[in-house]
Amino acid sequence: MACGKCLQCRTGEAHICQNVKIIGVDADGAFAEYVVIPESNVWKLDPAIPQEYASILDPLGNAVHSVLAGEIAAKSVAITGCGPIGLFAIAVARATGAAQVFAIETNQHRRKIAAEMKADAVFDPATQDVKAEILQRSDGQGADVVLEMAGHPKAIRTAFDIVRRGGRISLLGLTSKPISLNFSEDIIFKGITIQGINGRRMYQTWYQMTALLKAGKLDLHPAITDRIAMKDFSSAMERLKTGEASKILVYPNGTK
Ligand SMILES: [Zn+2]
Repeated sequence: MACGKCLQCRTGEAHICQNVKIIGVDADGAFAEYVVIPESNVWKLDPAIPQEYASILDPLGNAVHSVLAGEIAAKSVAITGCGPIGLFAIAVARATGAAQVFAIETNQHRRKIAAEMKADAVFDPATQDVKAEILQRSDGQGADVVLEMAGHPKAIRTAFDIVRRGGRISLLGLTSKPISLNFSEDIIFKGITIQGINGRRMYQTWYQMTALLKAGKLDLHPAITDRIAMKDFSSAMERLKTGEASKILVYPNGTK
């Protein structure tokens, strides 16, 4: 919920509002029967869009915002971290014309879903030389675009290793600690562009999501691993902790 009054809100950048209130962080969350939000925040789902997608528009928005924050058509795109947002980013990059999409993820369950989301190649950084693999698939150049969605220091290091000279890194993964970089080698001499990605643009991203979903360009089903009844909520949380589940849909009146 943006304030509508600060410099950012008044210059078309409400997604980085200085006084933003996030439901579930700064205000009571949405795991409730009723949630009070400003009317302007309500987004009506187009009837052509599968209803279950309504529950995953938040992370899909992060993916759309990240992918479309720069040129994407005919680019090679590498995604570090395949949680739900990384997985959705694979589908969005493909739908918006990326030439090749590489996914990098340590968790085997997530790698399997990344392949189902139709990544062209999926790498395990624990056992594979990701930089060598991507250089080999990009005529020795590196990736045009890297979407960093893990937030882990090793993944961030990988992002800077695999981006080509003059490429783009869009950073979405949150880090808990300061990250060490060699500014000269990693950024300046390579002439790369680094972007911080926060949330999703209000409301440009929402129109983009709607357009892609309405056109049937995004199949997000592989990322929906579980469907459970609300009464089994605690078991869903356990499933998340195992690392086997990606998006879990919770149905208030049961799954039937
Ligand atoms: Zn504001």
